[in-house]
Amino acid sequence: MIYGSGPAGLMAASVLSRSGVPVTLFERRPSYGRKLLIAGSSGLNVSHHTELEDFISHYRGWSPGVWRSFFKVLSPLDWIHFIQSLGLETFVGTSDRYFVKEMKASGLLRAWRSKLESQGVRFVANHEWSGFEGTVSGSVTGLFLGGGSWEDTAPLWPTALERAGVRVNGFQAANVGYEVAWSEAFLAEAEGKPLKNIVFKNNNGEKAGELVVTRYGLEGTPVYFLGKPGGAVLDLKPSMSEGEILERLRSVRENLSPMRRVKRLLALPDASLALLFHHSPESVRGNLEGLVRQIKGFPVELIRPRPLIEAISSTGGVDLSEVSLESGHELELKKLPGVFVGGEMLDWWAPTGGFLIQAAVTQGAVAGKSMLRRLTGSA
Ligand SMILES: Cc1cc2nc3c(=O)[nH]c(=O)nc-3n(C[C@H](O)[C@H](O)[C@H](O)COP(=O)(O)OP(=O)(O)OC[C@H]3O[C@@H](n4cnc5c(N)ncnc54)[C@H](O)[C@@H]3O)c2cc1C
Repeated sequence: MIYGSGPAGLMAASVLSRSGVPVTLFERRPSYGRKLLIAGSSGLNVSHHTELEDFISHYRGWSPGVWRSFFKVLSPLDWIHFIQSLGLETFVGTSDRYFVKEMKASGLLRAWRSKLESQGVRFVANHEWSGFEGTVSGSVTGLFLGGGSWEDTAPLWPTALERAGVRVNGFQAANVGYEVAWSEAFLAEAEGKPLKNIVFKNNNGEKAGELVVTRYGLEGTPVYFLGKPGGAVLDLKPSMSEGEILERLRSVRENLSPMRRVKRLLALPDASLALLFHHSPESVRGNLEGLVRQIKGFPVELIRPRPLIEAISSTGGVDLSEVSLESGHELELKKLPGVFVGGEMLDWWAPTGGFLIQAAVTQGAVAGKSMLRRLTGSA
C-alpha cells in the first residue's frame, strides 16, 4: 500500500507495479498530485542539467555519499528518460533547468497515472493515512506524504508517526519570499518587476540571480537560498567595479544629475532605478560617489519570511536519524520495519531549480526498490 500521490508516491508505485506487485495508491485529497500541479502553474521545472557532483552539492540533510547512492538508483537523466517514456517532451531552459515542453503538470500527471493503471495500480482518493491502527502486521507500507508548505489544513501524519515513536521535526518555510518595508511610491513603479542581474549578499553568503519586487517584499532564488531576517545588500551592477562605474558616469560632459547619468549610462532595469530613486536618501542621490556606493551595496532589511502556506517547500518532517540507510532497507523507518518513507516529508533541504521534484522521485524509486526487495526478496 502506498499513501500520497505526489511525485515520490507515484515513482514508488511505478517501481513496484512494473515488477508485477499489486499496488493500491491512497490520496487524502479528492484529486491526485495537487502540489505537482501547483508547481506546474509557474512552468514545470522537473530537474537540473549539471554534473552529478555539482547536482549533489545542492542538497542538505544526508551526506553527499548518501545522495550519490540514491541517484545511482534514479539519476536526473533516468528521470528525464522516464518522463520521455510517458510521451512527453522535455527541454533545458534558462539557468540549466529541465522543463516539460508543455510547461504544465497536467499532461505528465495524466500520462503517468494511465501508465500506472495499465500496470494494475488502483487509485483511491479521499483516503487519509492516520496511523497504524488496523494495519495488517507483516504488510509493507509506503508513506510519501509531502512537506508542510502550501497546505490549507495541517496534515495528521506527523502526530500519527510521533505516536509510534518516530521523531518528527516541526515544519518551517523553505524556498520562501521575505517581507521588506517598501514605500508606496516605489511599489507604484516597481511592483511585479524584476531586479535583474543582481548579487544578493548577507552573512549567509552571496548569490547572483534575479529577484522580483512584490507588494510585501522580495521573491526569487537568491533570497530562497540565503534569506534570513536582518540586513542584506544588493549589488545592482555586479559586472562593474565601483571605479569602473564612476569612470563611466563621469565620461559624459553634459551637466546631468547623478541619477540621470545612472539612467542613461548603466542600463539598469526599471526596478533597480526605482529602488535607487525611492529608497535612497536625497543626499546620496545627489552625490555621484554616494550613488555609486549605493549601486554596489544597496542596503535591504529582510523583516521575516512569508508563511509556510506560501512557501515552495519546507524543512522539518521525519528526522533523518529515523530512516535506515542499511543496504536492502534504504528509507525504511528503523522503529517501524515494513514502513518506507520518501520525498518532502523527510527533513532534507534543496533549492528550487528542479532539485525538489528530482529528490522526491529519486527517493520514491529508492523506497520502492526496498519495498520490492521486502515483498519479493529481489530488486
Ligand atoms: C508553488 C510551488 C512551486 C513549485 N515549483 C517547483 C518546481 O518548479 N520544481 C521543483 O522541483 N519543485 C517545485 N515545487 C516543489 C515540489 O512540488 C515538491 O517538492 C514535490 O511535489 C514533493 O513531492 P512529494 O511526493 O514528496 O510530496 P507531495 O507532492 O506534496 O505529495 C504528497 C501527497 O500526499 C498526500 N497526503 C498527505 N498526507 C496524506 C495522508 N495522511 N494520507 C494520504 N495522502 C496524504 C498529499 O495530499 C499529497 O498529494 C513547487 C512547490 C510549490 C508549492
